[in-house]
Amino acid sequence: MFIIPTQFPAVTIITISVFPNLMKCPKCGFDNPEGTLFCEECDWRTDQIYKPEKKRNPLAFAGVACLLGILSLATCLTVSGAAGAGLGAIGMVLGGYSVNLPRYIAGSNKALCMSLAGLGIALSVIGFLFGLVELVG
Ligand SMILES: [Zn+2]
Repeated sequence: MFIIPTQFPAVTIITISVFPNLMKCPKCGFDNPEGTLFCEECDWRTDQIYKPEKKRNPLAFAGVACLLGILSLATCLTVSGAAGAGLGAIGMVLGGYSVNLPRYIAGSNKALCMSLAGLGIALSVIGFLFGLVELVG
């Protein structure tokens, strides 16, 4: 269906057109009717070039978040509360990011990623708060 604007906006004509030509979706290759703005198959904008996303490994992100959480706690205990809180903050952000990542990437081990990311967040939060307390106290 196409909305064709006329010189009178109030009399914009809505027409249903059948186009014989097809537009290949740049992302999934689905043959859409010409003039389709969003692919009927995958909702990709057909006028936009598709660049495949870089393969990210959610498990690595979750693992790093965990590591940052542990590092944050260790830093609080050994170096300083401020450094520990900083590491904890980074760990929380990274953990929050990696907890959502498996949803967008097919074939990733969702349960493992999410629990590892959750652990990373928890450790980072503890490290962050511990650092803050040490900083204040
Ligand atoms: Zn498509």
